[in-house]
Amino acid sequence: MDEVLEAARAVEWSKLRERTLCDACLGRLFGKLGHGHTNQERGRAVREAAAVAEGACWVCDGLTSRYDALARLVAKKLELWDYDTFLIGSKVDPEVQAREESLWSELGLTNPEALKSEVNREVGKRVCDLVKKEPSLESPDILAVVDTSFDHVDLHVNPLFLRGRYRKLVRGIPQTRWPCNRCHGKGCAKCGGTGKMYPTSVEEILATEVMRESGGSGHALHGMGREDVDARMLGTGRPFVLEIKEPRKRHLDLAAARDRVNVSGQAEVDAFLPATRKDVVAVKSDRADKTYRVLVRFASPVDEAKLKKELIILEAQPIAQRTPTRVVHRRADTTRHRSVRRAEVLSTDGTVAELRVTAEAGAYVKELVHGDQGRTKPSLADQLGVACEVLELDVVDIHDEG
Ligand SMILES: [Zn+2]
Ligand SMILES: [Zn+2]
Repeated sequence: MDEVLEAARAVEWSKLRERTLCDACLGRLFGKLGHGHTNQERGRAVREAAAVAEGACWVCDGLTSRYDALARLVAKKLELWDYDTFLIGSKVDPEVQAREESLWSELGLTNPEALKSEVNREVGKRVCDLVKKEPSLESPDILAVVDTSFDHVDLHVNPLFLRGRYRKLVRGIPQTRWPCNRCHGKGCAKCGGTGKMYPTSVEEILATEVMRESGGSGHALHGMGREDVDARMLGTGRPFVLEIKEPRKRHLDLAAARDRVNVSGQAEVDAFLPATRKDVVAVKSDRADKTYRVLVRFASPVDEAKLKKELIILEAQPIAQRTPTRVVHRRADTTRHRSVRRAEVLSTDGTVAELRVTAEAGAYVKELVHGDQGRTKPSLADQLGVACEVLELDVVDIHDEG
């Protein structure tokens, strides 16, 4: 406390005595000194030394005496939710903040603490005792914002994140929910009132089972890249993070949710594992190579030896790809350069061939085969001098770090 009193002695006491302050507001003027004490304790010590009168507080107008009541308000609101960690935030009347700041400059203080930060800490300590849960600065399950002017508490419930790898076993399903391009989700004649381009999606198949138990208000699927609607996702599956917004429940039977997804027959997951927002960034930033199975039909017969030779040539050079015709209406028309790591023939009867192609992340594999009217260069069709049609495409491996 010596540190606090020393700082207090540097202030003109007559100025300190001009207004009445509560203990907490008086102590907070030196709030960053005297480690291990509450502002109330600091205030009492300064009041005694400087003979500052007590009375209605000019700064906070009684707010510092209401922390218990505010904490009870928060605890009551939290009762409805399942959470492990929380954080307290607050809104303090700007006039109150202006008053304390004017006092700081008037007294020439160098180590005051703001009322707002005291509110957060003091209400937080009390909530911690009431709810027996831990505060978390970094990633609280729930952020409770206390509006001190209106005794109102707003909860910001953070999403529940689950990660895993999914396989898409059938064609014709998009990765994420795809709103109808005519009505944008409202429901119209084109989409049969569903508001969607496709009846379901990998996102919906996965999320429905988790939503059932968690009672969230919405969901999002973050995948490590995405496969085309008409492509299957096989092999060990594609890494994803499923985000459930505002979950009522966070402690779920994840194995049971996985089993319910897997009976759908359309998509399956290896597991739902606890994840964080950081995992979303990680799956989004991964640049893993992918391996595809491509079934291609040639406009006129192609000799197997020639096919093999041209595939080797494709492996040797960078492929320049202008944004494909099929997506250019929703993506910028630019050119990307990607490499083919490996391309081999699995089988061919001269007219239809099954290929296995490993390419860098972001390569347009269909276009690599058919050339997209010259927008992808070189392409297999160009090399062969024969038009190529992609009959089937599957992602069979994603070479991520695991
Ligand atoms: Zn006060
Ligand atoms: Zn519609």
